[in-house]
Amino acid sequence: MAKVDELRRMIAEANNLVAFTGAGISTESGIPDYRSPGGVWTKYRPIEFGDFLASAEARREAWRRKFASDEVMQRATPNAGHRALARLCEQGKMTAVVTQNIDGLHQASGVPGDKVIELHGNATYAACLDCRRRYELDWVREIFAIDEGLPLCTDCGGIIKTATISFGQSMPEAEMERAHAVTLAADLFIVLGSSLVVYPAAGFPILAKRNRARLVIVNREPTEQDDIADLVINAEIGATMSRVVGVN
Ligand SMILES: [Zn+2]
Repeated sequence: MAKVDELRRMIAEANNLVAFTGAGISTESGIPDYRSPGGVWTKYRPIEFGDFLASAEARREAWRRKFASDEVMQRATPNAGHRALARLCEQGKMTAVVTQNIDGLHQASGVPGDKVIELHGNATYAACLDCRRRYELDWVREIFAIDEGLPLCTDCGGIIKTATISFGQSMPEAEMERAHAVTLAADLFIVLGSSLVVYPAAGFPILAKRNRARLVIVNREPTEQDDIADLVINAEIGATMSRVVGVN
């Protein structure tokens, strides 16, 4: 209880709050943590970006997996953790949500799209790898439904892929730069549901702390960076943040 009060006080004292979210905030919405033991990636080897580019069969396999698993993501709705962050944005406290998640639940909870910085992209739509034109998954699904046809960009003929960052694909430059800038401007940096093991994303809390922001970590399990944090809360994110912010 005391820790919840302390976090509430730190938020009240902050002028420039940045949230950094990982899989743990979305598992409470039923989205599986792909990297966890028993997660999808321990059963199927991830398709590397180079293989996706080089092989039509790898692209077919990627779309097969996407459509087989997509129902979970379509059904998922934001939970109290997402809603608490949306409320802090509404109150003008929160500058940005930097996220490792690809599920679009921050936007769905009411955080304005321009405040969500997606380091690993977004799996709720697709995009041309060459010209970045956006395509909806329903359109891809229709093409794929006919003999596993592969979608090509109607503008430039480029390869279309879900708008996520795959293994072997470089991090999105513009998002990395924006995340860097908001981190340097933050006076309070709150990590929610990330075990902070995936770099370069996990470098942002360290950067915030070095830049004299206060660092808070809310995660069910201990993380790699607990020893540099000003406050660590090992608990459910939704339950904790709804008490801190006062949302349901
Ligand atoms: Zn294109």
